[in-house]
Amino acid sequence: MSVWDTVIGQSIVPLLQRTAADAASMLDGGSAGAMTHAWLFTGPPGSGRSVAAWAFAAALQCPNAGCGQCAECTEVRAGTHPDVAALTTQGLNIRISQVRELVPRAALKPAKGRWQIVIVEDADRLGEDAADALLLSVEEPPERTVWMLCAPTAEDIVPTIRSRCRVVQLRTPPYADIATYLTTSEGVDAEVAAFAARAAQGHIGRARALATDADARARREEVLRLPFALDDLRQCLDAAASLVDTAKADAERHCDTLDAREVEELKKALGAGTTGRKPRHLDAAVKDLEREQKLRRTRVQRDSIDRALVDVLALYRDVLVVQMGVGAELVNDEMRPSLDRLARSSSPETTLRRMEAIVAAREALLANAAPLLTLESMALTLREG
Ligand SMILES: [Zn+2]
Repeated sequence: MSVWDTVIGQSIVPLLQRTAADAASMLDGGSAGAMTHAWLFTGPPGSGRSVAAWAFAAALQCPNAGCGQCAECTEVRAGTHPDVAALTTQGLNIRISQVRELVPRAALKPAKGRWQIVIVEDADRLGEDAADALLLSVEEPPERTVWMLCAPTAEDIVPTIRSRCRVVQLRTPPYADIATYLTTSEGVDAEVAAFAARAAQGHIGRARALATDADARARREEVLRLPFALDDLRQCLDAAASLVDTAKADAERHCDTLDAREVEELKKALGAGTTGRKPRHLDAAVKDLEREQKLRRTRVQRDSIDRALVDVLALYRDVLVVQMGVGAELVNDEMRPSLDRLARSSSPETTLRRMEAIVAAREALLANAAPLLTLESMALTLREG
């Protein structure tokens, strides 16, 4: 299996393959061709931009153009290759200290003689200070250094850095390609794979979760009951509360163990418990970490609510498709009878207003509005129509 098999439904793959070939000939003293030192992978969430960056990194390090079998490919995939470093964050922002740690690393000669590669997975989360710290290294990289930044759009990156990068634009992968990937690579049953790809609306990670995790499917089903349970005020408030509760439960599942482990690791790294005396700076360091963890928890909750809203939005889009009789493919095809009922009981104008209310709620939450209030107001608008 080649490293490119993980890049799903993207027409830019041949260009990256040609570039990897150019890069290899450059190492043998040939011309650079399409090879360059800074790349920016853009694409909607779930389209696989960091997967594409990692595949490209493997293809550059592999003597056989990303065969997927050799030691280089295996090490890059496992994240243990000495010449591939990655900067990731689960918080809201990449810390400047993370960038400062990485920049000297990027200046090193590659230990294995090919390329020194640094991948920044959430480059849109670089604050201004962190971007400044990165700039010089991206502007004037050593001969064998390659930067790969990933972000939703090129506009998410400060212009000074963006202008140094060649942009690789990914698209939302077609449902059929995601379904094929789920059946061939993850062994998912064809029918489940087709459902998951459709329900995830082109988000690969979400499709994988829906295909392989019964709890994720159950939570989605519960969310999709919401539009059918908005008959009175009480139900609207309950619906909003249940969305918030589910998001909190998601965050607990994702963060609780992780948070505790990180605090333990930090204490150990600072030497707590070894001398009997409390190390200097321990309290401050733990407090810093806890602040980051709180931000991460907020982000996980916000992502969870947003995912639910995207699902409900798709349901109303399906209702609109039925009302207009345009015969386009339905995201929630298995809910046909309920969709038909909802379509008959309202007008296309009402459906559009409801969709606008969901879009407005998503925007408000992105701007840090209080979740419960925002969702209550949205639920009431959905009920009034
Ligand atoms: Zn290989």
